[in-house]
Order: sequence, then C-alpha cells, then structure tokens
Amino acid sequence: MSHATSYELFINGKWRAASNRATLPVINPATEKVFGSVASATVSDLGEALASAERSRKAWSSRPVKERGEILVAAARILATKAVDAANDLSVEQGKTIAEATGEYARAVETLKWNGTHAEKLSAPIPLGPNRMIVPEPLGVVAAFTPWNYPAVLIARKLAPALAAGCPVILKGAEETPSAAVHIVEALRHAGVPDGVVNLVFGVPVHISRHLLSSSIVKVLTFTGSTAVGKQLATLAANNLQRCVLELGGHSPVVVCADADLAQAVPAISEYKFECAGQSCNAPSRILVARTLYQEFLSRMTEAARKIKIGPPDDPATEMGPMANARRIEAMQRLIQDAVDRGARIETGGTRLDQPGFYWPPTILTGVPKDAKVLHDEPFGPILTVAPFDTIEEAIEEANATEYGLAAYFFTDAANAKRALIDGLSAGAVSVNYLKGVSADAPYGGIKQSGYGYEGGDQGVRSFQSLKMVNGLGS
Ligand code: NAD
Repeated sequence: MSHATSYELFINGKWRAASNRATLPVINPATEKVFGSVASATVSDLGEALASAERSRKAWSSRPVKERGEILVAAARILATKAVDAANDLSVEQGKTIAEATGEYARAVETLKWNGTHAEKLSAPIPLGPNRMIVPEPLGVVAAFTPWNYPAVLIARKLAPALAAGCPVILKGAEETPSAAVHIVEALRHAGVPDGVVNLVFGVPVHISRHLLSSSIVKVLTFTGSTAVGKQLATLAANNLQRCVLELGGHSPVVVCADADLAQAVPAISEYKFECAGQSCNAPSRILVARTLYQEFLSRMTEAARKIKIGPPDDPATEMGPMANARRIEAMQRLIQDAVDRGARIETGGTRLDQPGFYWPPTILTGVPKDAKVLHDEPFGPILTVAPFDTIEEAIEEANATEYGLAAYFFTDAANAKRALIDGLSAGAVSVNYLKGVSADAPYGGIKQSGYGYEGGDQGVRSFQSLKMVNGLGS
C-alpha cells in the first residue's frame, strides 16, 4: 500500500508547490506521527487561482450543459477505479476504518454521477405559462471550503453541483486530510474539466478565506464546518454579498418511544453514532428514552458501546478508529470533565485510551444536568448522553433544547407519536426508525445555528444558480 506523502496545489490545470515552497505537516492520527506534507498557498498563489477561475468562467458556463454532465459522469467512473487506493489514503490521514473510507468514496462517486446525470434538466428553462419563463444561470466563481471528517463526499457535494451549474470552483481542501481533494480533482482533470475550472488550494484557513472572500470574483461561498467559523465566513461574505451555503454543526437527538423495538434501535444508534469516531455533523448525540424502557435501553446501549472494537483503522477487525486530531481529544476531556463536575455519571468510556494515537472509547453519560456543556456544545466525538422522558411533549421540548437544528431521529410505530415528532422536532432532517439521511438526490441543510442553504438534490445545484425571470415572451 503506497501513500503519496506530499500534496500540491492545483492551479490553472497544473499541480505545483506553493510559490514560496511552504508546506504544512500531515499527521497520522493512529500514530500521532507526521507522515506527509501539504503545500500552503501564498497570497500570490491565491491570486493566480482567482484569476484562472475567472478566465475559465465564460467558456465553462457556456459549454453545452450536456457536456458538463458527461464530464462529471466520467469523473465518477474514474474515481470509482481509484477508490481502493483513495480509501486507504483517507483512512491513514483521517483515522476512519477502511470500510468507512470505502463507503465514503462510494457516496462521492454517486454524488458526481447524480449531478452529472441531472445537470441538463437543472439548467433547462422552466416555463411559466405561454409568456414567461425562468432561466437558471450559473452565478460565477465558487469558493468551497471543506472539512476533514468526510473530505471525499463533502467535496463531491460541493464541486459536483457547482460544476453542473456551470460555475468554476476554488476548493480549499482540509489540510489535515488532503488526499481526498487531490484524488477528486485528479478524476475531474482526467475526465476533461478544462484548466482553471477547478483549482485546489490548501494553507492557513483564515488567510485563504479572507483573501478569497475579499475578491469580487467570488460569487458563492460554500462551507462545511463549525458554527463559529461559519459566522466568520458569512461576515466576510457580506462585504461582497456573496451567496452562502453553510453546513454547520449539529447536536442531534434520538427519541426512543415506549413502543420502540430496542433490537432495532440500539444497533442502529450504535452504528451511526460511532461511525468516523462520532465526528459526523449529524451523528446522534442526545438519546431521550421513554421512562418505561430507560433501564433496558441503557443496559443494551452500554453493552453495544463496550463491544465496539477500537483499533488501527487499517485492521479489518477494527470497528472504530482514532479521532482525527488532538483538538478532538481535548474537547472530549473538557466536555466530560464539565459534565462529571456537575454531577453526571459515566456509564462506559470517559477517558482517552492509554496508547499512542488519538483513541477515545465510546462514552455514555447519564444524569447530565441541563446546564452541562455536553448538552449544548457540539460533541463531535463518540459521546452519547442518555436521559428518560415521560411524555412526547417533554421529549420534543428536550430534543429542541439546543441551538442546533441539523438532524433528529426517533423510534416509534405509533401514528400519533410519529405525527407529533415529525411536526415538533426542530431540524433540517427527521428520520423515523432509521439513522441515515444524507443522499445525493435529496436536499440536506440545517436550521437555527446549523446553517442555511442546501446541498444535495435539485436544490444543491440551485445553490449555484441565479434564476433569471423572463417576462413578456408572447408579446
Ligand atoms: P474548525 O471550525 O476550526 O474547522 C473546521 C473546518 O473548517 C476545518 O476543515 C478547517 O480547515 C476549516 N476552517 C477553519 N477556519 C476556517 C476559515 N477561517 N476559513 C475557511 N475554513 C476554515 O474546527 P475543527 O477543530 O477543525 O473541527 C471541530 C469543529 O468543527 C467541531 O466541533 C464541529 O462543530 C465542526 N465541524 C463540523 C463539520 C460538519 O460536518 N458540519 C465538519 C468538521 C468540523
């Protein structure tokens, strides 16, 4: 298994080092050792990326949309042939298991394909009776900033719809996990994306975003990351009124009702919660259980959490790898200490594993007081809180008692409870007896402090279009 150890910038159709040859280290979270480097763009590199994206804009936006779609479908095919190596690279950098990384690449491939297949339909004029129509038009150059937790699929969810819509992109990949951006950009290049249409930069995030968003060349900002950074970026984007798509944090509840089938609910929660060591924006983090089921649920959930096999991500027996970086370990320590200081009880887990690597075991907290930070700050790690409830109204109130509004889940077959929960839960996505929900063909986006705008489905492409209203056609 070979891994590239130095990743470059891709500007105006060429791979190259930063103009001052600056690099940043890439760390293997399973060993905490530096194993590679990534180029760190200078202001002059960013200026070139902006200029090349702008130069390519007219030709790309006026290219027949059918051809843009075909390029995306071809890129999907190329990426699929590279997926085994790409998944290995991702696993080494990020810490997720090979199986998780492989699954992520499958979703990235599907996303490229879906947007390629639907590009033509989504750029077609929309008639509004005999005299009027709406003409979708590409907004222009996109600045896309993507994080390290799902670097492959989240890049695909930004690049594919932007390119389908006819917009050039300057992508800032995650410096901690650069290979995904490199593999996807390579697939696009081989598929025939012209020079300048996709540019890839890495570097100091705050410098890159400040520089790119201060340019009037950039027309759209699309970002996935924390709410705090999302607000800073939206503030920068306000100066040029760049359109924003912000996929920010989450703190997702699961409501387990009295009729829930625990044989279904517990494995579903365990599997989705501990995927990617809990570092998913829509991972469940607060479990609310009907009091009649509470003890039984807690004992099954604790058993399931204890059974998860933690280990090196390239070991096929491993079910959960390390966390991605030292910041997450510090965050786990801080949140758990705060909860315990306020009287919470640790049912399992609770301390870092005593070995090299950023390993944190699945952790379950009970008796967590309402003011504990773990109930308010996005945990973004393998921590679950479990609490009982007596009525559906109380469960909804507790579920909504966070500033986030990304995803919510519940388990019941009772029609009244279903209706009340679907209507009452404040979240961009609600899933019933099921814990996934992000797909290439459907819009996904948060409410409240989880952001605004949509990725996925038709809306994902519309995020990069203006809708020109044309009146008086029959006159
Ligand atoms: P962070 O907010 O500093 O960084 C998150 C991502 O945003 C990183 O990829 C980073 O490179 C990028 N980023 C940071 N500052 C930026 C800037 N000024 N301009 C452009 N990009 C910038 O936090 P972190 O410690 O890396 O991650 C932890 C927190 O981030 C979590 O608590 C979680 O809330 C959030 N996060 C959310 C998602 C998500 O899927 N919504 C993904 C990753 C991280």
